[in-house]
Amino acid sequence: MENNELEEENRRLKSENESLTTAYNEALSILEKRLKIEEDLKESQERFVTVFKQSTVAYKIIDLDFKMVQINQALCDLLGYSQEEILGTVILEYTHPNFIKYWYDLHEALWKQELPSFQLEACLIRKDKTEVWCLINTIRFKDRGETLGYTSLVDITGRKQLERHKDEFISTISHELKTPLTSIKSYSQLLLRYFNRLEDEKPKSMLRQLDLKVNSLTTLIKDLVLASKIDSGKLSPRSEEYSLDGLLASIVEEFRETVTRRDIQLHNSPAIRIKGDKFKISQVIENLLTNAIKFSNEDTPIKVTLQRHESDAIVCIEDQGRGISQESIENIFERFYKVKEAESNLESGMGLGLYICQEIVKNQQGKLWVNSELGKGSVFCFSLPIIS
Ligand code: ADP
Repeated sequence: MENNELEEENRRLKSENESLTTAYNEALSILEKRLKIEEDLKESQERFVTVFKQSTVAYKIIDLDFKMVQINQALCDLLGYSQEEILGTVILEYTHPNFIKYWYDLHEALWKQELPSFQLEACLIRKDKTEVWCLINTIRFKDRGETLGYTSLVDITGRKQLERHKDEFISTISHELKTPLTSIKSYSQLLLRYFNRLEDEKPKSMLRQLDLKVNSLTTLIKDLVLASKIDSGKLSPRSEEYSLDGLLASIVEEFRETVTRRDIQLHNSPAIRIKGDKFKISQVIENLLTNAIKFSNEDTPIKVTLQRHESDAIVCIEDQGRGISQESIENIFERFYKVKEAESNLESGMGLGLYICQEIVKNQQGKLWVNSELGKGSVFCFSLPIIS
């Protein structure tokens, strides 16, 4: 071979060598990256398993048949069974009968993709037959093509006990307060009757004031009792068939007689029959009417309407009062919420009225809502299903 040819061959081999080295380095770097990803994955899997195992919150992973395929020690401690006893079983086997159907339906909805997740409070039964209340959160996820459910169970037995004590406390206090209040009311009415025969106006006006204050106290106590019943799920409405237009007319008539200064108008009142708790619905109407009167000027009218919309009856109570800001509308149906402007108003209660109204209406398969503009007035409406 000539010298030139040798040099040429040498250059070619050198360049080939360089390309091979580059390719080798690139392959090495890809391999290193892969290894790093795998290492990170392994690390995060190990971290998940450690957190899952060591967490003080109970966790479980379930398959499509609701069977528990992975659980942690906290779940075993919560239920008082061993891992072996629990794995492969269904959580509903440890659930208080009152919650089984509701929990099952939520799971069904989760599997049918009607819900991405759900939350509920339920009572479980431990191995030693004691009860444990839990806040349960479940999400659906996919793992290598398989649909699974991931659930956390937080022990809220202490909170539930406190709530029960609070309800008992409110109910005892309210009963204790009701009896003397009833006596005060009858004595004030007796006194008023006595002073009505006399000329002196001063004691009569004072007694009327006293009567009004006793009425507001009685309403506050009734609201407290109702709110605590709602919270503990003991609202238990009565169910009877009644005429909603008749009920509305009689309440409006009553208000016209007692609040003589106000123009209370009843519009569009077609005959509509409803099935539900007439007494509780009258409480809602009275509450909304009282608010409309309270929060609007004497010289403005209050309109009450009843309409039929598809299979619902809709009652609206409209005032031209001070209205409610958008910000307050979002919170107005919450417990103990009072609009800022109302805080100094001696007439206003504890912010329980609308919360109670909403719960009563919800309890009878209806809805309560409000449209309002600050300075212009408010329209509170509720719907109830009409019996077919
Ligand atoms: P309360 O029992 O204290 O009156 P409610 O739950 O009935 O409480 O009402 C909550 C708040 O909503 C009150 O603070 C009141 O200011 C406001 N509100 C209710 N009804 C009306 C209305 N018709 N117009 C303006 N504000 C209203």
